[in-house]
Amino acid sequence: MEKTRKSRKRLRSAQELNRVVAEFYLEGHAAKAEGRPVGWMPPMNGVIEVFYAMDLQPVFPENWSPVCAAFGLAPRHFEVSAGLGYSRDLCGYLRNIFGYIHGPMNEPDMPLGGLPEPDLIISAFGGCIPAMKILHGLERRFTRAKVFTAELPQVGFEDIQDHHIEYAVSEMQRLIDWLTETTGRKMDYDRLKDVVRLSDRACELWDEIMTYRRFVPTPISAAELGVMFVMVTRQGTQVAVDFLTGLRDEVRQRAEEGIGMIEEEKIRLFWDNIPLWYNMGLFNYFEKYGGVVVAETYSAAWSLRLDPDRPLESLARKSLVSYPLVSCTSIRKRKDMVLQACRDYRIDGALLHANKSCVPITLGQMDIKRALETELDIPSVVIDADHMDDQNFSSAQFQTRADAFMEMLLAKKGLAY
Ligand code: SF4
Repeated sequence: MEKTRKSRKRLRSAQELNRVVAEFYLEGHAAKAEGRPVGWMPPMNGVIEVFYAMDLQPVFPENWSPVCAAFGLAPRHFEVSAGLGYSRDLCGYLRNIFGYIHGPMNEPDMPLGGLPEPDLIISAFGGCIPAMKILHGLERRFTRAKVFTAELPQVGFEDIQDHHIEYAVSEMQRLIDWLTETTGRKMDYDRLKDVVRLSDRACELWDEIMTYRRFVPTPISAAELGVMFVMVTRQGTQVAVDFLTGLRDEVRQRAEEGIGMIEEEKIRLFWDNIPLWYNMGLFNYFEKYGGVVVAETYSAAWSLRLDPDRPLESLARKSLVSYPLVSCTSIRKRKDMVLQACRDYRIDGALLHANKSCVPITLGQMDIKRALETELDIPSVVIDADHMDDQNFSSAQFQTRADAFMEMLLAKKGLAY
C-alpha cells in the first residue's frame, strides 16, 4: 500500500465539490484584487458568519493544511518550519502553515493560487492551544495586518453556563465594532439573521446526511469525507446549503435503493480522530475485506444547530464550543459520544488513530478502547499515524495491523474473507 494516495470516490457530489473548492479560493483572490478585506481565522466559530454578513472574506489557514497534504506540498513546508525551530512533535497544521507562510507562499503556480495575504487576523476565538498559536505566529509574519484578539475562556462543551454565553456575546459585539471601525463596513443585523439561518440549515442538512449512514449498506463512507470542506469554509452561505441539499438527495436516494459503497458490505468500521489527509485512500483499503468506514469522530465536529432569532447568542455559543465533541470536551463526554455512534451506526470494529501531532483528540483513546470492549463487545485497533505528516506513518505497520484486525472481525461474525 502506498504512503500517500487519494481515495476512490463514488458519489456524483464529489465532482461538484471540486468546483466548490476552486470557487472558494478564487473568491479569496478576487476579494484581494477588489480591495475587499481578507481575514484569516480559525474555523468552527462564530466569526465566519460575522464575516459573510459584513461582506468580508474569510480565509482558514488550518483548512489550507489538508489541501497542502492532498497536493503533496506539506513535506516541503515541514522542512521550512523545522528550519525555523518548530519541533516535529507539534501539530501538523501548525507546522505546515508556518512552513508555507515563511516558504513558498508567494511562488507562482501554487495549487488553487495559494492563500491571499491577510488584511485582518482574528486571533484566539476558542479551540485548542495550537489553533491559537497558529494565529499568534501569523501576527508576527503579517505585520501589516490588523489583529483582533478575542478573550474567550476554555470551557468544556458540557460546562457552558449562561454567564459564559453573556460574556462571549460581548466579545462577538466587540469584534463587530472593531470590524466596523477597521474596515468601514457596518453590520446589517437582519442580514446576520439570514446568514445564521443558512448556517443552521447547513448543519441540519449535515446531520440528516449523517443519519443515512445508519443504513446497511451505508450510502456514504469516510472515503467521501472531503465534502466536509463545505462545512468548514462555507457555513452561512447559500453555496453550502445548495451543495449539501444535492449531497443529501444523492445519499438519500442511495440509502432508499440499498446502494452501498461496495458490492457486499460485511464489516462496518468507526474511525476515531482526524483522517490522514495525504492518504485518504487508506479508507478504501478495508474494502477487500468487505469493510467500510461508516462513521467518524471528526465529522461530528462541524455541526452545531443555531437559533437565527438569537444570532449573537448562537454565534457566541458556537465560539465557546468550537469543535463540539472532539477537542473541546471532557474525555468522558468524548467516550460517550464514540460509544453512542458505535451503537447508532451498528459498528463491528473501531480504528483508533493515535495521531502523533494532535494530542487533544488522541487523549483518552485507551479509555475509549477499553469501554468499547467491555460495554459493547466491539474490538478496536490502534493505528499509529499523523493527520498531516507521512513521516509518522508506516504503511507496512498499518497493513499488518489492519489485515489481522479485519480477519479477526470477519471470523468473529462467522464470515469468510
Ligand atoms: S485540534 Fe489537533 S489538529 Fe486541530 S489544531 Fe488542535 S492540535 Fe492541531
